[in-house]
Amino acid sequence: MESNSVNSIVLILLIIGTLIFLKCCNGPIDDINEVEYYNPHFDIKSHTICPVMENDTNITACIHYPRLNLGFICSVCCDHCIAKIQKSFKNEDKEYDILKKDNKYYLTKKGDIKQEVILCNYENFKNIVSQLGTKTLND
Ligand SMILES: [Zn+2]
Repeated sequence: MESNSVNSIVLILLIIGTLIFLKCCNGPIDDINEVEYYNPHFDIKSHTICPVMENDTNITACIHYPRLNLGFICSVCCDHCIAKIQKSFKNEDKEYDILKKDNKYYLTKKGDIKQEVILCNYENFKNIVSQLGTKTLND
């Protein structure tokens, strides 16, 4: 009888432990995976217009977003526009910002969605640049 209730307690603790593990450790990682890799639903068209000047885009670059400490791939017409967005992120003046919606990230200008952005990694960068034919900052 006593050993049975000990077993039950151990079982309950195991279940609670598993639930806590799933919640804390798997949740955020799944969340990130959705935007980690380029996928067919990605709005590549939004990368053909510069979010700053509304011109055609020529440059694709990674911009660091300090609030989440993540880098996002963004396309603009010139390096001044990259600098402008980066400065706004740094100052947190909200002129340019990152919005997370339905597991996707968007670059916004004064609250309006301008471009879908994706986490900065080699695969994503390669995919976007090859589809757009844009240059990178180092070219
Ligand atoms: Zn520009």
